[in-house]
Amino acid sequence: MKTLECDIIQDLLPSYSDKISSKATNSLVEEHLQQCKNCKIVLEKMNKDIDISYTGNQDEKIDYLKGFKKRKKTIVILSIAITISILLIVFAFNVVNKNILIDRLLYVDVNKFNVDYMYIKENEGRNETTGETIKYKTLQVYLYSDEYKNMYLTGGYELESGETEIYYNIAAKQLPKGVEFDSSGLEISFMLDDYIEKILIKDTKNNLKEIWNKNMKVQSEEEWKGGKS
Ligand SMILES: [Zn+2]
Repeated sequence: MKTLECDIIQDLLPSYSDKISSKATNSLVEEHLQQCKNCKIVLEKMNKDIDISYTGNQDEKIDYLKGFKKRKKTIVILSIAITISILLIVFAFNVVNKNILIDRLLYVDVNKFNVDYMYIKENEGRNETTGETIKYKTLQVYLYSDEYKNMYLTGGYELESGETEIYYNIAAKQLPKGVEFDSSGLEISFMLDDYIEKILIKDTKNNLKEIWNKNMKVQSEEEWKGGKS
């Protein structure tokens, strides 16, 4: 699943791989790598390329190092340029967010979405105050629609305590002119408390589609991973 975030992270990977990126960049990259196999593979390839370049004779090594210094300069300049462009993108998104996106959510039809995969994940968290380990279940759902793959999909839900049905609202956001977007869908994580009976997706015309209910048999994360390979 390549997302806009992946594009940004992959722009940062060369300087991250050369260990010349800032602490802030490092933690951003590492946080993303923890949850994105795709970008991890890209980084591993990058690291391999550097290793291969080192396995020459001594002279070649020195030449390589000289070249490396030069390259480093270029990389620094590049990473500054990239950082600036990321700031601009983030800025643009914020502006867009505030001025257009919230006011103008585009309609997407929930009935055109399919559940690509779904599994139940066992999670462990830590209560910061008591230090206790908390176990909880989430339903990981991946929704996909060919129709909307060039739209910036978004969603969210509100759940008041005691409610047994989750309504997840789906819409698309308007992108600024000239910005292209290729989304592979929408990955959602629902907290599965015992009292939740149904999960439905809802669009801006109030069409509803049930994607999960208590009586459905859903594979575990292990089963899902096993079935994939
Ligand atoms: Zn990624």
